[in-house]
Amino acid sequence: MDSKELKAREDVIWACRKLAAGGLIAASDGNVSCRLADGLYLITPSGRPKAEIDVHELIVVTDTGAVVSGSGRPSSEFRLHLLVYQKRPDVHAVVHAHPPLLTAMTLAHVPFPADVFPEVWLSVGPVPTAPYATPSTDEVPRSVEPYVSGHNAVLLTRHGSLTMGCDVRQAYYRLEKMEHAAKSLLAAWVLGGRLPDPLSLEELERLRRAFS
Ligand SMILES: [Zn+2]
Repeated sequence: MDSKELKAREDVIWACRKLAAGGLIAASDGNVSCRLADGLYLITPSGRPKAEIDVHELIVVTDTGAVVSGSGRPSSEFRLHLLVYQKRPDVHAVVHAHPPLLTAMTLAHVPFPADVFPEVWLSVGPVPTAPYATPSTDEVPRSVEPYVSGHNAVLLTRHGSLTMGCDVRQAYYRLEKMEHAAKSLLAAWVLGGRLPDPLSLEELERLRRAFS
């Protein structure tokens, strides 16, 4: 294993630890992957708690999901990850998690209003919700496919979140920001009895100019 692959493995394990410690998954939920060189991908193994796995347990797969190295089975959602890499050459890491509040929003049929929060709008952008699909089947990538282009994150009805990034940290931190925002939305709902208004188009344009 070269130093680049070791760094990729350490990044994926870093995200697994953050997901578990932050309550964004439970037990063996969720999966994390990143691109390696030459059409190969590193992905978490199936059925292992993310708080416990180490760098040597990660699986290397090809763009068809064939295992190149690793003793376990790749995550059952590997098709979802491979779909993202196929559709988005700019994406180098993918995180699928089961964040409680973001998932609750899909249960309550409340779309995630990214345009309420300047920081979320800038760092994530609009977040669509994909219809329900049976986990671990081809239905999951099919349900998400229409939303992958042009978005950095998608919510999966009854199932959780998908976030993408130029590296593992960006994919993870996009999720962390969204779940944090969902906590504010819930508090606003409890305190004010309704969801907050989105920023106006003028404010969004001012934001774009300020940070471009
Ligand atoms: Zn899942």
